[in-house]
Amino acid sequence: MRIKVWGARGSVPSPGPETTRYGGNTSCVQVTLSDGTIVVMDAGTGIRNLGLTLAGPAPRVNILLTHLHLDHIQGLMFFAPAFRPQTEIVIWGPKSSEASLESRIARYISAPLSPVEVRELPCDVSFREAPATEWEIGPAHLRAASVTHRGPTLGYRLTEGDRSVCYIPDHEPGLGASLHDLTPEWISGYDLAHDASLLIHDCQYSDDEYPDHVGWGHSPLRDALTFAHRVESERVLLFHHDPLHSDDFLDAFAGTATERWCELGGAAERLELAVERREIDLG
Ligand SMILES: [Zn+2]
Ligand SMILES: [Zn+2]
Repeated sequence: MRIKVWGARGSVPSPGPETTRYGGNTSCVQVTLSDGTIVVMDAGTGIRNLGLTLAGPAPRVNILLTHLHLDHIQGLMFFAPAFRPQTEIVIWGPKSSEASLESRIARYISAPLSPVEVRELPCDVSFREAPATEWEIGPAHLRAASVTHRGPTLGYRLTEGDRSVCYIPDHEPGLGASLHDLTPEWISGYDLAHDASLLIHDCQYSDDEYPDHVGWGHSPLRDALTFAHRVESERVLLFHHDPLHSDDFLDAFAGTATERWCELGGAAERLELAVERREIDLG
C-alpha cells in the first residue's frame, strides 16, 4: 500500500512563497493498493495535480469524501479523469438526512458556481453513501465512522492484509473533555483509528491558537498527539495545516510536535507533518 499526499492544507488553498515546501493545496491523499487500485481520500485542490498523473486509461477511481466542506471537494471539477468518457468514478461520502450525496455535491457542481453540471460530466460517475458496515474496494477492506466535526463527517480506515491507514483530516476529539481521561468508548474515532499502521490526522492549530477556535471542528497539537497516543498508531502524519502557517512556522511546529510526541513515549521517526507530494510505502 502506497500513500501519496497531494494536498495537506486545511480550510482554503494557500499558495505563495511562504508555503512552497509544505504546499498550499487542500486535502487530498492517494492510496495505491497492491493490485494498482487507486483510492483517493478527499477531493481538495490537491486532486487536480493527482488527476494529471492519471493520463493513461484509469478504468475506475474511488474517491472517499470525509465531508462536503469546500476544502475537501473543491478540486472535483478540475480532476482531469472526470472529463474522459472511459473513466468510471465512484464517489463515496457521508449520509445526511437533508439530501442525497449527489444532490449535495451538485450544489457545487452547478450554476452559478460551476460551468458544468454533474449530469454533463463525460465520465461514468456514481455516488454512494458510505455504509455503516465494512465494504471492499479491490483488495482493501474499508470502514467509515462518524467523527466530531461540524456537519456530517466521516473518518475512513482502509486495510489491505495487515497494513492499514486511517484518515481523519477534520476532527476535534478533545472538544469539551481531556483526551487523557476519557475511556476509549467516549473518544470520537477511537475504534476506527486503533492500531492503524498510519494515522493521518487533523492538527490545524498550535495549543496557543486553539482557545480562539474551540468548537470550530479542528484539533490543537496537544489533542492530535494525545489522540494518536491513545489509539496506539504505528506512524502519524499531522495534517490539515492552517492556511496562516508558513513553511518556517511549520518547521518549528514539527520540532515541537516531535518533542511532545517523544514525551508521550513515541519514537521521533514515527511522527511527521504532512508535506505535499510526500510518499510513504506502508509495505
Ligand atoms: Zn477541512
Ligand atoms: Zn471541515
